[in-house]
Amino acid sequence: MSAPLNTSTAPTASTGPMIALSNVSKWYGDFKVLTNCTTAVNKGEVVVVCGPSGSGKSTLIKCVNALEPFQEGQIVVDGTPVRDKRTNLPKLRARVGMVFQHFELFPHLSIADNLTLAQTMVLGRNKDAALSTGMALLDRVGLSAHAKKFPGQLSGGQQQRVAIARALAMNPIVMLFDEPTSALDPEMVGEVLDVMVQLAREGMTMMCVTHEMGFARKVANRVIFMDKGEIVEDATKDDFFGHARSERAQNFLSKIL
Ligand code: ADP
Ligand code: MG
Repeated sequence: MSAPLNTSTAPTASTGPMIALSNVSKWYGDFKVLTNCTTAVNKGEVVVVCGPSGSGKSTLIKCVNALEPFQEGQIVVDGTPVRDKRTNLPKLRARVGMVFQHFELFPHLSIADNLTLAQTMVLGRNKDAALSTGMALLDRVGLSAHAKKFPGQLSGGQQQRVAIARALAMNPIVMLFDEPTSALDPEMVGEVLDVMVQLAREGMTMMCVTHEMGFARKVANRVIFMDKGEIVEDATKDDFFGHARSERAQNFLSKIL
């Protein structure tokens, strides 16, 4: 069982969903970016989040690991309430892997150092253990020959695979992806999706903002469609692609499929 993330509460085993959002609303100043967002992601589930640009997908996902504050509602990750001043947010973030559109590797560090830094600094692993974990994951994403290189010497697809390996090195309880393939040249999208598909099939709990509907069809359990800060659809994959869609979702899908 994972260590409790809220140091102030008794370490009760969480039996509920891995991520539960209830009535989450958020404002940027006067602008309401999220309105009453409610959903849950169970352990081992893969949930794809899609919707038009500006609909609040990135904001929603950043709220899950407290990279963005929200003013109303609650998000509970593995039993730990995110909006609770007693919650140890750095500890929470350490357990929630996040992969961004633009990789966000440290450009001045080698791939090996990118993979080991947070393990040593945040988890307190010794260097050898961190390197061995990092190298095993680098191998898993097919890049073990590149450990000594710097991010700038790798292709976008390779850098994103390193970013996924780096996140996995922290033993996350859940992985969040924010459009991990949308900055890539088309020929590199597949290699990143392959890693994500493998991860999904191994049972990782994943919340993925992506417009890769092939990926959604392959591994998603559910699809969430957002528009104007609201969760407009939250459906099983078959329902989402098959029928019972709102006009807004249909309109969106007709543009991207
Ligand atoms: P998506 O990821 O679906 O494209 P975002 O979550 O990035 O949408 O943004 C949702 C809305 O919030 C957009 O209108 C965007 O301009 C606005 N927004 C995002 N970040 C900020 C910010 N830091 N300050 C003010 N407005 C923001
Ligand atoms: Mg976004």
